[in-house]
This record gives sequence, structure tokens and C-alpha cells, in this order.
Amino acid sequence: MFHSAALKLTTWYLLIIMVLSVGSSVALYHVSSSDLTRNARRQVIFFADQLEPEDFRDYTRLRQRQLNDDIANLRQNLLLFNIAVLIAGGAAAYALARRHLQPIEEALESQTRFAADASHELRTPLAAMQTEIEVALRNRGLTKAQAIGQLQSNLEEVGKLKTLSEGLLRLAQRSSEDITDSVAELKPVVKEAVARLKKAAAAKKISIDDRTNNMLIKGDPDSLNELVAILLDNAIKYSPAGSIVKVTSRKHGKLVLLSISDEGAGIPKVELPRIFERFYRADSSRSKQQAQGYGLGLAIAKKIAELHDGEIEVKSRSGKGSTFTLKLALVS
Ligand code: ADP
Repeated sequence: MFHSAALKLTTWYLLIIMVLSVGSSVALYHVSSSDLTRNARRQVIFFADQLEPEDFRDYTRLRQRQLNDDIANLRQNLLLFNIAVLIAGGAAAYALARRHLQPIEEALESQTRFAADASHELRTPLAAMQTEIEVALRNRGLTKAQAIGQLQSNLEEVGKLKTLSEGLLRLAQRSSEDITDSVAELKPVVKEAVARLKKAAAAKKISIDDRTNNMLIKGDPDSLNELVAILLDNAIKYSPAGSIVKVTSRKHGKLVLLSISDEGAGIPKVELPRIFERFYRADSSRSKQQAQGYGLGLAIAKKIAELHDGEIEVKSRSGKGSTFTLKLALVS
């Protein structure tokens, strides 16, 4: 599909180029050939008085032949020029068409992948629920207690599906329109995120040491709050009970660097490039077994950072904890 669209666009570009090129060549041909004819006529008139009638006839014939040759040359040169424009223009038009269509192709591909990934992830809890319900329905002697247990298990799966679909929705809905021209205060943004995760931290006896300085940053407070909450949530999820999660901030030129460090399991080096991918969960048995999640958090965080023209950097060593640093533009 992409190839035929590129060819179609190339044809249009080339058509425009050729209409301009042939049009200007025809105009040039008319102007130049009438110039050449006028010059020849002027010369013939000039020599009419100066030459003997015999010589003048020869000269006129010669001049006419010259004029015909000049015009033929002009025609040939213009034809060659247009062939060159056709070849070079065709190549340039194709390159341009590909360049223009590339982002559209990438966006389409990413949407298809998104839909495929999402339905794959949604299928797992749905399939689990379906099997459980089918087994329960086949059990004629199902007791009330068993039925309640079954409903509870289903409710758990429904909860997972809800979290997952909410995450997917958040990932799909974000757009740069939410961000343009907004300004946020860093300290309250972090404070609110810390407050959101207070319960989760308390449950693991993890203390959050928030040392954020106040600075004005370019961005939407709600989105940034969500971003910080995702990083804090991970720091808590992947840290042992009783550890400390530290939040610090500093200026670096026109940027603010907000770091969230934990004393947790860390992320193996090989996994680092992939953790921001949708649905990716580092393959350490710890993270998959103990901590709940769908591998969407960091994908959402990355998207929010990118919409702010910012980035997230991660430094981590297995068993030594991780530091996620968010870089955002300061309001100058
Ligand atoms: P989720 O936490 O739902 O699995 P994320 O996208 O938030 O998904 O994170 C992707 C993976 O990156 C996690 O599964 C985990 O393995 C790893 N990870 C993220 N943050 C940390 C952290 N602070 N410490 C250790 N591993 C982390």
C-alpha cells in the first residue's frame, strides 16, 4: 500500500515539475527562435546593399540554413533538457514522496502494532475468566461458597482488565494540545504525586524523601503529576520493604533534572533499552511475580515526557537500585 501511494504521489509531483518545465521550454523556444529569426533578418537586410545580387542570394541561402540549424539545435537542447528534468525530477519526486509518506507509514504501523498488542494483552485475562466460568458452569454440584469464590476471582480479572484498558486509553489519548503554553510548578507537582503514593509506600514501610526545589517548568501539571507518580510507583513496587526512595531536583542550563532514586532490585543492563516499550516487563522473576503491572507505566511516562519535549534517562544496576531522571525545560 505504501509503495503504490508513494508512486501515485511521485506521479503528481512529476506531473507538476514537467508541466512547469515543458511550459517554460515552449515559451523559451518561441522567444529564442523569434529572436534568432529577427537577427538573421536584420543581417540579411544589412548585407542587401553591400553584396552583389549573386553573392547576396548565396548569403541569404547560407543564412537561412544557419537559422534552421540554430533553431533545430535549440529544439534539441530543450528536448534534452526536458529529458534530464524528467529523469532527475522523477528521482527527486520519488525521494520526496517517500519522505513525506514515511511519518504517515510509521504512524499507521505503530497504530496497528498498538491495536495488536492491546488485544493480545486483553485476551489473557479474558481467556482466564472464560475458562473459570465454563468450569464452574459444568460443575453441577457447585456450592454457594465455590460460586462466591468464583465471582471473587472473576472480579479480580475484571479489575485487571479495567486497569489495563484505562492505561491503554491514557496512552492513546495524550496529545501535545494538552501541553502547549502550560506552566507548572515543580514542587507542588511532585508533592501531589508523593501524596498519591503515600498508601503504597506505607504498605511497604518505604519512606519517600522529597527534596524537590520549586521551579517553574513548561508543561501541564496534571500530566507531569502522572509522570512523576508512575516513576514513584515503580520505585516503590520494585524496592524492598523498609528502603528509601529519594526525589531530588537541580537546574542544568535551561533544563530541570528531576531524579527519583530507589534502593531496589535494579534493572539488568540488557533490559534497560526495552523498559520503555509498551507491555514490556523486565524478565527478572522478582518483577513479574511480585509486582503487579502491565508494562504500560513507563510507556505512558515516556510519551508524556516526549510531549513536553523532555526525556527520561535511567541509570540502574542489578541489585543496586535505579535512578530515573526526568529532563524538562525551565520557563525562562
Ligand atoms: P510495570 O511496572 O507495570 O511492569 P513499567 O512500564 O512501569 O511497567 O515498567 C517496565 C519494567 O521496567 C517493569 O516491569 C520493571 O521490570 C522495570 N522497572 C521499572 N521501574 C523500575 C525500578 N524503579 N526498579 C526496577 N525495575 C524497574
